[in-house]
Amino acid sequence: MSRTSYSIAVLPGDGIGREVTAAALEVLSAVAPRMGRRFDTVIYPAGAQHYLDSGDALPAATLEACRAADAILFGAMGLPHVRGRDGTEIIPQLDIRFALDLYAGVRPIRSFPGLPSPLASPRASEIDLVLVRESTEGLFYARGRGVVDGDAAYDTMKITRAGTARVCDFALQLARQRKARGKRGHVTSVDKANVFTSMAFWRQVFEERARKFPDIATESAYVDAMALNLVMKPWAYDVLVTENMFGDILSDLIAGLVGGMGMAPSADIGDHHGLFQPAHGTAPDIAGQGIANPTAMLLSLAMMLDWMAVRSGDTALGDGARAIENAVQGSFSAGAVRPREFGGTSGTADITRAVTERL
Ligand code: ATP
Repeated sequence: MSRTSYSIAVLPGDGIGREVTAAALEVLSAVAPRMGRRFDTVIYPAGAQHYLDSGDALPAATLEACRAADAILFGAMGLPHVRGRDGTEIIPQLDIRFALDLYAGVRPIRSFPGLPSPLASPRASEIDLVLVRESTEGLFYARGRGVVDGDAAYDTMKITRAGTARVCDFALQLARQRKARGKRGHVTSVDKANVFTSMAFWRQVFEERARKFPDIATESAYVDAMALNLVMKPWAYDVLVTENMFGDILSDLIAGLVGGMGMAPSADIGDHHGLFQPAHGTAPDIAGQGIANPTAMLLSLAMMLDWMAVRSGDTALGDGARAIENAVQGSFSAGAVRPREFGGTSGTADITRAVTERL
């Protein structure tokens, strides 16, 4: 007998994070009865504004609640004018990633029928890929550890065998699951092995892991060539796996291929916890105007339900995920709404309403 109720720690954060989180909670309330499931959603404080208000960007009680919940739903955090002494932004999501060991940053993107593509090629409609970003080491290991020595500053990249192997295995498994659903079953590891020792080591570990997945086609590519190819022929890729910093940059690039940050969901997954958030930030330029596109967040909510379905064996949650995806897809293809980045006029509430009505 499956469980019927689940606990969700909700961290809306700052800027449009709060607006798209409210949209996600509305959609979750609409889909829950359909699944016959209850979600105990509790909102917890964290973020740059909370830091200004309280001096603490990530209260211990919030982190504890994240640890205890079945899943974490996260808006976005950080404000450009709120910075630490070294000039970097207050970004508690990075602390959560490290604290809960959320090593795989999963960023799927695909084209949506009914919305115009930024790419001219008709093959843009075939775009359907997932970037897996290593999220606990790489160049981000340097965060908080950088040193300024006179007139030189140093940030160190850390690549470990265990850290690389587990994220490569994650990407290879994901390609296997996608292959079972009719996708190509192909993983491209993205590195800079021609220049950096750490990246040559990454490539070696990837190739070792790939040998354990003979059913999956694999290749390694340099990050600069990938920046080109992801614009020229993104439809040629299935699953990508890469180091933390390269993943940070390429995930914004691939979001641009399908219309921008408002269309790009993401998940931060570890062996014990999962956090689901849109790939975008707090977008201070549009915050407070009701015009943020909630699609990325709604698709992240669907990813959350899918992840919970696999962990709990509760297939109703997977049905809920499909229902949300179909409602989002249906709203666009029927022309009911069009986000502003696509030349439309639909705001956050319009898109949320269109999706909940379809549910
Ligand atoms: P971070 O560094 O926290 O990832 P960022 O500085 O890269 O954030 P975003 O907040 O992601 O920036 O915003 C980048 C651009 O995309 C901005 O112009 C913003 O208005 C736009 N944008 C981001 N999210 C959305 C959204 N949901 N709907 C519409 N536009 C968005």
